[in-house]
Amino acid sequence: MPLLRDIKGFFPPFWVTFRNMFRKPVTVQYPEQMPELPERYRARLVLTRDPDGEERCVACHLCSGACPVDCISMQAAEAEDGRRYASWFRINFARCIFCGLCTEACPTLAIQVTSDFEISKRDPLKLVYEKDDLLVDHCGHNDEYSFYRQAGIGVAAPRGTNPSESAPVDVKDLLP
Ligand code: SF4
Ligand code: SF4
Repeated sequence: MPLLRDIKGFFPPFWVTFRNMFRKPVTVQYPEQMPELPERYRARLVLTRDPDGEERCVACHLCSGACPVDCISMQAAEAEDGRRYASWFRINFARCIFCGLCTEACPTLAIQVTSDFEISKRDPLKLVYEKDDLLVDHCGHNDEYSFYRQAGIGVAAPRGTNPSESAPVDVKDLLP
């Protein structure tokens, strides 16, 4: 009967409302109240330094190769002591999907995620971060790892002069 059906359909929504009136609210009054984020929340990326305060990034391009949306670009350069670095490094956060694949690919732990999610802007061009915006003054998640202490290439001494190290190969010698 339509009347019985209407009466049956009338009360359940009120019951749902009544039940939720006594529940603890889950709404967070952001920005006055900051949400509690999971420990491994992925938001803004940064470039960290090694324990000696040097830039960790060696401009190997692995992060940009791993990035599914192609939003990382850089230019590699080499210091006099053989240490590689990025002369410029750029991330377009307007394209970034915060997947964290770049951090997985990075062999030096240079690029790391932070939980800083408050980077939205109306102008997408302001979401293009340069190296100065990305480089931080700390080691991030790991304050012991130094890639060059592991690799030992051309930093403690010029290339080919470290103990037990062969002289570098002149690749042009291999040409016919
Ligand atoms: S988090 Fe993902 S999308 Fe963002 S820069 Fe890294 S690899 Fe690219
Ligand atoms: S951030 Fe890491 S993966 Fe990307 S270029 Fe620098 S060292 Fe390589």
